[in-house]
Amino acid sequence: MSIETKKPSKNEILFVWLNRYAGIAIKTPSKMLVIDPVDVKPRDLKNVDALLITHEHYDHLDQSLVAEIHKLTQCKIVADSTSARRLRNVIPSEELHEVQPNSEVKFEKVLIKAEKCNHPAATPVSFVITSEDGVKVFHTADSLPFPEMATIGEREKLDVVFCTVGIAPGTSPETGVEIARLTKPKVAVPYHTGSAADLKKFDELLKKEMPKTTCLIPEVGKIYQVSKKRK
Ligand SMILES: [Zn+2]
Repeated sequence: MSIETKKPSKNEILFVWLNRYAGIAIKTPSKMLVIDPVDVKPRDLKNVDALLITHEHYDHLDQSLVAEIHKLTQCKIVADSTSARRLRNVIPSEELHEVQPNSEVKFEKVLIKAEKCNHPAATPVSFVITSEDGVKVFHTADSLPFPEMATIGEREKLDVVFCTVGIAPGTSPETGVEIARLTKPKVAVPYHTGSAADLKKFDELLKKEMPKTTCLIPEVGKIYQVSKKRK
């Protein structure tokens, strides 16, 4: 079953991991958001409301795929400055929202905040997404841990945090767990790796360091549901 035809209940979101990188589709009760789609068929993403791009690396930004999804769906595009510049020729300017750390975009009741991202790209951002019923997701892109993550975690009371555990320079299951330690989510999701061993290692380390935090090891293409943290 596709995430597009499923609807989350109140105070819940659904998500799917789309590839071995940071590609994630998030469904709130009213909106479908897709982050960093690469290696996907545009036809599988027919009802996208907004497409978010964190940085310009090939495993995050595929200009022609973004253009194709936009053509099929007329979705809004939210992108870091460098990716936005690369998309200028294919996306109409009124539908292209350029973001920097600390800027935000609102789609009706769904809020997207761009935050810092500690990754060697030109102008990378990470995203805090707040659904219409206040479910909070932190998509950290390819980021290594950085001290301000603690402030973000404290301010947002995060439900789900996506933690990079590989491929990007310097990242590992250990740096992924450090992100969870700083942000203190209800559910920590390791991603950005093709290695099942690294996903498992993240789970083992997290159990030791943060026994109360749920680890959700994702499988590409599977739909997961997360509900709001009690605040
Ligand atoms: Zn990447």
